[in-house]
Amino acid sequence: MTAFTLLATSGSARRGSLRLTHGVVETPQFMPVGTGGTVKALTPRDLRELGAQIILANTYHLWLRPGRETLVALGGLHRFMAWDRPILTDSGGFQVFSLESRRTLDDDGVTFRSHLDGSAHRFTPEGVVAFQEALGVDVAMALDVCVKQPATDEAVEASVRRTTLWARRAAAAWQHGPTALFGIVQGGTDERQRARSVAEITALDFPGYAIGGLSVGETRDEMVRVARSTAALLPADRPRYLMGVGTVRDLIAAIDCGIDMFDCVYPTRAGRHGRAITRGGEFNVRNAAFGRDARPLDPDCACAVCATHSRAYLSHLFRSDELLGLHLLSYHNLAVLAALMHDARAAIAAGRWDEFRDTIVEGVAR
Ligand SMILES: [Zn+2]
Repeated sequence: MTAFTLLATSGSARRGSLRLTHGVVETPQFMPVGTGGTVKALTPRDLRELGAQIILANTYHLWLRPGRETLVALGGLHRFMAWDRPILTDSGGFQVFSLESRRTLDDDGVTFRSHLDGSAHRFTPEGVVAFQEALGVDVAMALDVCVKQPATDEAVEASVRRTTLWARRAAAAWQHGPTALFGIVQGGTDERQRARSVAEITALDFPGYAIGGLSVGETRDEMVRVARSTAALLPADRPRYLMGVGTVRDLIAAIDCGIDMFDCVYPTRAGRHGRAITRGGEFNVRNAAFGRDARPLDPDCACAVCATHSRAYLSHLFRSDELLGLHLLSYHNLAVLAALMHDARAAIAAGRWDEFRDTIVEGVAR
């Protein structure tokens, strides 16, 4: 069902194509995050218009609400949310480990209390794979153990050990049906633990690999260093997914590390807080300086919002707490990242990645 084709490389950047059950994903690709089965403030029609080829949804949130029975009874996640292109669900591990005082971890799995009503739930590697398969998503993620940075050597070692243990059980439970299963590499910022995790996880021969445990409190330089060295150890013929990255600067850095797929709540969350992403840097539209600014958010953006509305109008919407502002700015921010990925793919295919990367980095630093 799943096939990844590496189409071109330019420097260490990769241009590829990932065939999934609900369609083909061109890489590099940014995946908008639809936490509870909705990319906040956007309709599936908006997402299609934006050229989104795959979106992400969260196992933890969907498990709690509306829950497996409801999702299965209503025909699976695609039908429930009226999205017919690929969906990737995370394993829920990241959210559960963020609960800290509300969870207990053992070698068999993790028990946690819902942030909604305090009810008790248990994630096991098998249960989490079965849940994602029942939803009918294109890509499921194996349950992993993420540690926050800074972390002790012992905590990093324990997370790598358990992540491997659970990945083996997830691989054994996986049905090899329409849902592909990706493994996750951990290891914090420790190169030796990263190398160990890569060796143990890739031995299980997953159709794709994620680099987890980054963007969790380490410095940006550490994030890029670890992403680069870890990506270099991963098999070239499988997609590489860096979790939790979503600014223009970080996406460019990650593509330069040889990563193919990304997700982050950042562009839509920023959009709901009045923050505009552009290739010339970011700014908050609430700023009084934009009150009479007739220019579009980003003169280089070809999106419907920039074709229609001024910065002054967006500024007015946010300062008046109008709902339309949340929609328009979320739409624009995703459009900027979609166009960035489109242009990155073209630059890699044309063998001029380095030049493209330098131009973008210069632009956002202005
Ligand atoms: Zn725009």
